Amino acid sequence: KLDFAGKIARFLGAPLREEVVHAVDDVTIGIRKGEVVGLVGESGCGKSTLGRIAAGIMPPSNGQVLWRGTDVTKLDGPASREARLRAQMIFQDPYASLNPRMRVEDIVGEAPLVHGMTTRAGFSAYVEEQMRRAGLDPAFKRRYPHQFSGGQRQRIGIARALAVKPEFIVCDEAVAALDVSIQAQILNLFMKLRSELDLTYLFISHDLSVVEHLSDRVVIMYLGRVVEQAPAEEIFARANHPYTVSLLNSVPRIEARKRAFTTVKGEIPSPLNPPTGCHFHPRCPHAMPRCSQEVPKLKEVAPGHFSACHLNS
Ligand code: SF4
Ligand code: MG
Repeated sequence: KLDFAGKIARFLGAPLREEVVHAVDDVTIGIRKGEVVGLVGESGCGKSTLGRIAAGIMPPSNGQVLWRGTDVTKLDGPASREARLRAQMIFQDPYASLNPRMRVEDIVGEAPLVHGMTTRAGFSAYVEEQMRRAGLDPAFKRRYPHQFSGGQRQRIGIARALAVKPEFIVCDEAVAALDVSIQAQILNLFMKLRSELDLTYLFISHDLSVVEHLSDRVVIMYLGRVVEQAPAEEIFARANHPYTVSLLNSVPRIEARKRAFTTVKGEIPSPLNPPTGCHFHPRCPHAMPRCSQEVPKLKEVAPGHFSACHLNS
């Protein structure tokens, strides 16, 4: 039961755009308040699209985004503005989303000022608090983004997101561009902020080893569909879906994170023209005749553990 404070994104195929976006095919996910959900899949599986929809920065072409039972896609005026502030998104490349001509204090403080979370008089103190919280020295508030390292720029992006007092954060490959040692620092920061600010996260990554330590629950997507979801420890101990199993086998657990996923057998088919039946059948070591004909449905294989594979029926 999801007695709720997260979001449900449900939609059937988004409009076709240049990048991913055919993208998600009848996916429903629910996130409880305070929960960290890891959303994992190879590139083109639709996870970024799902993240954008959940964060409210892209409307579903079909379906709903529910926040405590209210469809936020139907809101307008102040309620819609509030919904947009409540959910914030953090991206892989903070540099691309930081205005190079703006000082850090304005990057972090602009939206809170516009939305009345601080005043001109309180501005400096407000910005400094956000910077400190994100692990940045407030003494640098008058610097520009290019004067910071990659890890620090990600902290600027985090400070900016926190400054509007969100409850829900969608991280899309938020550490993928960083060195492994810096990745760990940023992941630790996310976890510290979670408990300090009572945040809920949707943590999107192509890398299972990144989500392993911080997720309460893991959702695995393949070519626009959720193929498995379960509590994190259950996924890592008793993966059910052959795709998840192949992901786990392909991840050298400690080193060479960057190689994760490159050793799942076979090419990723085009998401624009996915295989019939179970999308995974051309790569699956257990494929049977019915796999190319029938779409497997998600079935509860253990409490809270869902998998979509014909081997379960
Ligand atoms: Fe493999 Fe068939 Fe299960 Fe798909 S439904 S994962 S092809 S066994
Ligand atoms: Mg992506």
